[in-house]
Amino acid sequence: MATVLDGKKLAASVRAEVRVEVVALAASGIVPGLSVVLVGDDPASATYVKNKTAACREVGIRVDDHCLGAETTTEELLRKVDALNHDDAVDGILVQLPLPAGIDSAAVLEALDPAKDVDGFHAVNVGLLHQGTPRFVPCTPAGVMRLIASAGTPLSGAEAVVLGRSNIVGKPVAALLTQASATVTLCHSRTRDLPAVIGRADIVVAAIGRAAFVRGSWIKPGATVIDVGINRDPAGKICGDVEFAAAAERAAAITPVPGGVGPMTIAMLLQNTALAARLRRVRPPSGG
Ligand code: NDP
Repeated sequence: MATVLDGKKLAASVRAEVRVEVVALAASGIVPGLSVVLVGDDPASATYVKNKTAACREVGIRVDDHCLGAETTTEELLRKVDALNHDDAVDGILVQLPLPAGIDSAAVLEALDPAKDVDGFHAVNVGLLHQGTPRFVPCTPAGVMRLIASAGTPLSGAEAVVLGRSNIVGKPVAALLTQASATVTLCHSRTRDLPAVIGRADIVVAAIGRAAFVRGSWIKPGATVIDVGINRDPAGKICGDVEFAAAAERAAAITPVPGGVGPMTIAMLLQNTALAARLRRVRPPSGG
């Protein structure tokens, strides 16, 4: 029976680390500041923003939220981003996605100052990640890697299978696993014979958004399974992309949904915000 990886507990320890970093920054007179921009009235986005701002305040990060109406234009949002880029008290800027349909999301993300892009979605930060010299690692992938580390799973030489090739989860997870010397297979909707591919994996990261799609019987005995998916089962209950009970019978370690990757995502945002403050405002030691 698998060890269930407790994302809530691990997220609490990441938050405690960030609190220590915030105290260290305070000793230099620095209070990290995050600006969160929410456009429109999507209730799920409003809940995410509420949770993120509460978590920031709990660790001593100053947070200001900017709630803009659904009728906001791309130009208005770009002006808001520009003002935050030039505000020296703002270390991190998070534009909550998805943006309303009429807004050019790509233009907005590219307008962010890369030094304040704590979500890690700007092309500069994506490029740094893929070069193997990451600055801001996107929050969910960073949380995935921390969970794998907590399981004690060796990465070097391991077969890793990532399901899903989105820019926010699948691709960055594949880049991070590659950087950690795993042999990575990145699967998507055109992949042939998924059960066979997954059956080879020492590490499975599922991020497709299909309830219980990955069968327990596909999992290689002893594998580490990280379930990023957030779905509703036919009874309306939150569930992941993996058939949890059956997979837990075979895996060595597995994340639950909820309580696995989800809490880690917010914790890693706090970590990125503290890092942004340090990189922007603390002078590097002079190199002699
Ligand atoms: P996207 O919808 O952007 O991408 C889904 C990916 O899954 C695509 O690459 C798609 O392939 C692939 N896919 C879809 N169906 C299949 C299939 N039947 N077989 C193989 N591959 C398939 O999703 P996201 O990456 O944004 O999110 C994935 C899941 O993770 C969602 O449930 C989301 O809610 C959750 N999530 C959770 C977070 C957390 O904090 N816990 C954070 C972010 C996301 P193709 O490219 O070919 O279309």
